[in-house]
Parts: sequence; structure tokens; C-alpha cells
Amino acid sequence: MGTVRIEGTGDEIAVGTIFCLGRNYREHAKEMGSEVPQEPVVFLKPTTALLDDGEPIRLPSFSSDIHHEVEMVVLIGREGCNIALADAMEHVAGYGVGLDLTARDLQAVAKAKGLPWAVAKGFDGSAPVSKFVRAASVPDPHGLDLSLTRNGEVKQSSNTSQMIFRVDQTIAWLSRIFTLTPGDLIYMGTPEGVGPIQAGDELVIALGGIVSAHFTVVGS
Ligand code: MG
Repeated sequence: MGTVRIEGTGDEIAVGTIFCLGRNYREHAKEMGSEVPQEPVVFLKPTTALLDDGEPIRLPSFSSDIHHEVEMVVLIGREGCNIALADAMEHVAGYGVGLDLTARDLQAVAKAKGLPWAVAKGFDGSAPVSKFVRAASVPDPHGLDLSLTRNGEVKQSSNTSQMIFRVDQTIAWLSRIFTLTPGDLIYMGTPEGVGPIQAGDELVIALGGIVSAHFTVVGS
């Protein structure tokens, strides 16, 4: 689709770059056998990875192990580079909840060979995302429950207070390398509890009782 929407408005916002943080929750780094990073681990997804709330998740034919990773997603509303930490939150337009779908089998091979994660993380439909709520209606983005249920069973449940790099730190850090532009998204990393999805699964993701989305998984 290449666009996202803010709840309560008719606005469709064209998405720019989709930034994603890896290993931003200690317990997830631990479950992956990864070190806790000293600075953010970042990778990108193309806008063709986006799926809107309710669109089917189609399992790609080239992987047999697609994992769910529920994440808070930040929508950037103002351009900036070298953004000061104190000014960073002024660049946030809204918050949503998304899935960083991952071909874990391909990622494991890429990690072992020291190759990029573009295929494992950036395939079509690998970035399902909810509608967004305005940043002004979220007083503290670092105290929000984050959850995923698969067929009604809670598989991931944490709180954004557990993030290693906060939203302001991430924006300040990213903007030293990449100019941030309105419509950019930042997937803030997943907590522990990641696991496989299969055709027929019903996935519900939620952030802090303020946004949620529902996806059905279908075969390739
Ligand atoms: Mg992730």
C-alpha cells in the first residue's frame, strides 16, 4: 500500500523509509542468543512490505519459518538531521503497532555467513501495521503494554518501558546518519516470545489499549 492512516482523520500519509531496530529488548536479545547492543542495531524494509490492518498475511514460498515480532511503531512527522535529544519527540507524529515478520530460517543463514538481512526481513508483506494515533494523545510512549495473541493465546506480552533505546534516543541516533522525513516509520524492536506463524492463524496485536490490528495468515 505504501501509506498509513491516523485514526480519526481521513489523511493517508505516504510512507518514506521504514527503519527497524533489532535487539531493543534485553529478554529478546537473550532468547536469540545475541549480545545486548551498545548502540542501536538498524535495518530497513521497503514500503512494499507494508500491510494494512485486516489485509491477509501471505506466507512467502521461499521460507518455511516465518516468525511474528510485535513492535511499537513510530510515525515521523517532521524532517530533521542531527536532531538533538531534547528536540527528538517533537518529530513524532503518531504511534502504532506493527509486526516485523521475519524469515527466521533465512535470517539464521544470513547471520552465520555475515550477510545482510534484506531478504529475511524485507519481503512483500513483512511489515503489517495498525492505524496510528496522534502523538499528542500519548503522554508517555515508554509505559505502554505491547502484546500479540495467536489464535487467542498470548504469545508476546511486555511493556515499552523495557526498550533499551527509547524513542528520543533512537530518533537522535538515526538522524545523525539518515535524514528523517515525514512519513518515515521506526519499528522499535520486539520483546521476547517470538515464534512461528502458520496458514490459518489469527493474529491480534495491541499497544497500550490505544491501537490494535488483526491479521489472518494465509498460505503462499
Ligand atoms: Mg524486529
